[in-house]
Amino acid sequence: MTGSDAFRLWTPGPSFGLDAGMIQRDPSSAGERPRVVIIGGGFSGAVLAWHLHRTAPHRHDIIIAEPRDEVGRGLAYDSSDPAHRINVPAQKMNLDFDEEGHFEQWLIASGYPARDPAAAIADVHLFPTRAAFGDYVNAHVRELGRAITHRKTRARAVVPHRGGYRVVCGDGEDIHADTVVLAVCHTPPQVPSSIAALRHHPRFVANPWQPDALRNIAPDDRVLIVGTGLTMADIVASLDRQGHRGSITAISRRGLRSQTHAAQFNEPFGNFASEPSHTTLALLRRIRRAIAEAAREGLSWYPVLDQLRLQGFDIWRALPLRERARLIHHLRPFWDTYRFRIAPQVDDVIVRRIAEGTLTIQAASVRADKSNDHDIAVDLRARRSRTWEPASFDAIVIATGPAHGTVFESNPLLGQIGSDGLARPDPLGLGIDVDLQGRAIGRDGQIAENLYVAGPLARGTFGELMGAPDLARYARNIAESIAHADIRAAQLPPHPVQA
Ligand SMILES: Cc1cc2nc3c(=O)[nH]c(=O)nc-3n(C[C@H](O)[C@H](O)[C@H](O)COP(=O)(O)OP(=O)(O)OC[C@H]3O[C@@H](n4cnc5c(N)ncnc54)[C@H](O)[C@@H]3O)c2cc1C
Repeated sequence: MTGSDAFRLWTPGPSFGLDAGMIQRDPSSAGERPRVVIIGGGFSGAVLAWHLHRTAPHRHDIIIAEPRDEVGRGLAYDSSDPAHRINVPAQKMNLDFDEEGHFEQWLIASGYPARDPAAAIADVHLFPTRAAFGDYVNAHVRELGRAITHRKTRARAVVPHRGGYRVVCGDGEDIHADTVVLAVCHTPPQVPSSIAALRHHPRFVANPWQPDALRNIAPDDRVLIVGTGLTMADIVASLDRQGHRGSITAISRRGLRSQTHAAQFNEPFGNFASEPSHTTLALLRRIRRAIAEAAREGLSWYPVLDQLRLQGFDIWRALPLRERARLIHHLRPFWDTYRFRIAPQVDDVIVRRIAEGTLTIQAASVRADKSNDHDIAVDLRARRSRTWEPASFDAIVIATGPAHGTVFESNPLLGQIGSDGLARPDPLGLGIDVDLQGRAIGRDGQIAENLYVAGPLARGTFGELMGAPDLARYARNIAESIAHADIRAAQLPPHPVQA
């Protein structure tokens, strides 16, 4: 059984007659259709709306509440920096998991390769800018015209109301919803407490994803980046593009940096889904055996990691909670650097800067007591050393990635939903606790029938759920669940918009 099959186990699937376009009804007035309010119009929210309309055309009144100007971008694809490229080849980043090449064909049809010749790698794969991917998602939602409404607002609260929910919006107009989908995902990174005293320094960048976050960094500044994964790679690429030539030191607990893609793409290799491992150690041994076997067949570790990702759901579900915690603690840093790869163009910058001696990646910790207006004095301690060494920088950038574990504190909406008991954190602190259909589990352990969680915040239940391909597949499953639940519920009452 493939990971894709496994994902299908918990959704209605084609046997329920919910293949794209099967629930054909004449468009009716919005007031007679079940209303689905999707809170958050990033990739997950937009792709879910697209799938819902595709699964049951004109069957729902679909509203996306999203404060950004456009839906389909969210944090990752709202970047206008051309140094930020998608980190999965375009061929695999599609609105529908099963329609490989959809985005790539869209790019080619729109003449993109000629506008960005650097996007092509070895004339085979396209790694366009992240903005281009946002354009693709946005264009497909816009194409659906009035079937999907974008309400440019921030949801403040979700309150049970008349068998559905009242979504309290920042623009003052509440919306009644039969079904709510939370697709609010990414939070800013969390500043490590050991350097929190520096956060008011003018060149301390706590959130590198804010527009122009790196503006105050001068070309010769000595920069300390805390974090060595994907965000660090983005920051180095952005600094390089803006003409920065000073020294950059990037640190993390293990000093591991993200890998790039293999020169040659092979079919996924190995099998971790049949009789999946029940302990982290057994899984690790199995991975090592698969890598050795792949080597004997002249293959690298890449196809093994690809198979692990595809079968991530089966692997995760087979591990008891204690083992999942162990996996996160011991293997996640390695998984994050080998599984989440950077675009070859970004890797070229990293490799060049290392060769030039202007980028050093270290396994180290950092601490600081205070800052003055000029130099930023910190202490660095190399991994396994007991000695703190003084060091001085002109700027510090936090690149530890989204702090999903604190999402109930950092997102006020989730704060309200959590304190009202409608949803709760998952036991591993990865996001929100959901059942196998993606429905939120409340504080009392009850499943909320019509409250879904789309996007990476559901990964406590599903394991690997971060990259666009997995998110698209998950969104389609939720769309099918919503359409199916709606059929079961038969007639839902009309729902006037509440003032
Ligand atoms: C910087 C970055 C780059 C990435 N690059 C890639 C890549 O190249 N390839 C890949 O496969 N994966 C990539 N990823 C993985 C990424 O998780 C997904 O591709 C995707 O961006 C997740 O989208 P999302 O919609 O779930 O979350 P988000 O992008 O965080 O979108 C959530 C949206 O919710 C909105 N929101 C929040 N609170 C509220 C509220 N109260 N009311 C209304 N709206 C609200 C926000 O404005 C936001 O637009 C990247 C991730 C990051 C962080």
